[in-house]
Amino acid sequence: METANGNGLILIETYYGDYGYRARALKQTGKRMMGYISAAVPVEIMHAAGFIPVRIKGDPKETVTKAYGSMETLVCPFLLNAYNLALKGKYDYLEGIVIPHTCDSVCRTYDVWKRNFPLPYYHFLNVPHLDSAPSQEFFKEILKTFVKSLEQFIGKEISGQDLANAVLAYNDFRKTMRELYDLRKPDQPLISGIEMMKTLVAVKALPVDESTALIRQIINEAKGRKASSPQKPLRVMLVSDQIDDTALIEIIENTGAQVVMDDISVGSKLYFADIEATSDPIDGIAEYYLKKVNLPTFYRDKGGSYDENLELRFGHLKRFISEFNVDAVILLVYKNCDPYGFEVPATISYIESLSKPVFYVEDEYSSSSSSAIKTRIEAFLEMLTQERR
Ligand code: SF4
Repeated sequence: METANGNGLILIETYYGDYGYRARALKQTGKRMMGYISAAVPVEIMHAAGFIPVRIKGDPKETVTKAYGSMETLVCPFLLNAYNLALKGKYDYLEGIVIPHTCDSVCRTYDVWKRNFPLPYYHFLNVPHLDSAPSQEFFKEILKTFVKSLEQFIGKEISGQDLANAVLAYNDFRKTMRELYDLRKPDQPLISGIEMMKTLVAVKALPVDESTALIRQIINEAKGRKASSPQKPLRVMLVSDQIDDTALIEIIENTGAQVVMDDISVGSKLYFADIEATSDPIDGIAEYYLKKVNLPTFYRDKGGSYDENLELRFGHLKRFISEFNVDAVILLVYKNCDPYGFEVPATISYIESLSKPVFYVEDEYSSSSSSAIKTRIEAFLEMLTQERR
């Protein structure tokens, strides 16, 4: 692959390297930013209220120094790191934070954030964990409460049209992101895993229309590339929750393998389905976040056999493995992460049932831990490369 970047990828470098760079600049022009944690928060509603949603992330290169005084250490290291960044002033440009009830770690820390990182607005979103009809009705009411709470905060009504426009804007963005993912399908992917990760992260702190335009620009740039080597790399899929740093992908791609697909919460989990345009936009939003975003904190038991339930939970992985021609899977779970941790045996056996090797690694969300997993991942990929010869 040619390495010369066009403007789109140069912008991504800036936005990834200094997360919030664009948001801080936009704040100077009067724009308003709202932070949120996890993939389960409907960004469409924040957008409809006039905010630029900013996904809270951590930085594995930052040592946790401030968070231990007020947050329990048993939460996952990602959350501890992100909170630490907030205490260090990284998110001072936000007007508020929305925290959903996804995993216990996120849920339990709501009061900790609110007390120790005071902002004008906080909202706890009581996301249910089942996708049954009563849960759906419950969630619609929860979303309406969220809309009302934002209306009170901004001092004006959020109309159905505002919500419908937001749904359209984010669906357009999702469609464009899927086109970008398509560029990873050829034998020689047109965009590397490292570039993709930087892009996935960078757009989490941009206005949605800017994100869509930027992704279109990157697609055009990448389509102009030519394969530089006839050799087909080992194709890897990454499965995890919030990976928002390139360290792991650098380890993988420095071996000559390529990350060609992901099932992570800043990546494909958000982009491979759309919100249905319903007459009340809240219906489509509720349905999307309860049924279409594949997080282990949702339990989707349809009463069938164990195998049928596995298919329901992991069937999308089979599709990804086939469509992106994946050779091997790396499953990364953060220490103290129960939702993903509980699913490890089922995830591994499902992927192995597709005759694909899977490597499981537990991580600490810290650059110091990446060196510890580096040797193991290199050995796994080296073994697969040898087998292919
Ligand atoms: S990594 Fe696990 S414990 Fe941490 S926020 Fe995500 S789901 Fe929760």
